[in-house]
Amino acid sequence: MSLAENIAQVKANIAAAAKEVGRDPSEITLVAATKVQTSDTIRQAIAAGITVCGENRVQEMTAHLDDDAYAGAALHFIGHLQTNKVRQVVGRVDLIESVGSAHLLEAIQAQAAKLDLVQDILLEVNIGDEDSKSGVAPSEVLELARKAAACPNVRLRGLMAIPPVAEGPQGNRPFFAKMRQLYVDISTKMSDNDTIIDCLSMGMSGDYQDAVREGATLVRVGTALFGPRPPIHHI
Ligand SMILES: *Cc1c(COP(=O)(O)O)cnc(C)c1O
Repeated sequence: MSLAENIAQVKANIAAAAKEVGRDPSEITLVAATKVQTSDTIRQAIAAGITVCGENRVQEMTAHLDDDAYAGAALHFIGHLQTNKVRQVVGRVDLIESVGSAHLLEAIQAQAAKLDLVQDILLEVNIGDEDSKSGVAPSEVLELARKAAACPNVRLRGLMAIPPVAEGPQGNRPFFAKMRQLYVDISTKMSDNDTIIDCLSMGMSGDYQDAVREGATLVRVGTALFGPRPPIHHI
């Protein structure tokens, strides 16, 4: 199938999953995970209806920005962000989805203040409590959310998660349900601030329909749009 056909198919699957649980499909945004894709492929994806690109490597993203490859779409940073690379990301993307520590939050706040702008962010939650993964522990999300809400140059928009590798079909549904619970909890507790929590980013090629059934507002899909990636060693 062509890229355009894949995009149409994934969008149709999102809409079908949304309707199954009584959600309006327009509540869900497909984020194309464009890692390893060329600037030309990214342009083709945008021409075929992709409205948000998600990048997870600063170096690739910078090259694509220099090419103006994302023109016409919004840009999210979805990968692990080192504090020494914050300068290359803050103010250049619409949303940083992967803020998993107070240390990174503070670095983003400092850079955003320096540029005199407000950077939208999500907190990345280590929902499977995996040692190997970055992200804030579920029990510490509220504390980090309060810190984010107190940062004048950061706007907290919600939560993101990359659950463990699924064991069998629907294996991640319990993690998605837990994320949904945390999201509702944070939204309620943060409502005294003028914070608007409206993003729950979860679900990838293998499980985005389940994520939609459990309340995702952003799904990050790569392989199902672009085909399998060559094996990479630097992630
Ligand atoms: C690559 C990537 C995705 C998409 O993964 P696929 O399985 O190819 O759909 C989603 N989220 C993040 C953070 C990624 O790095």
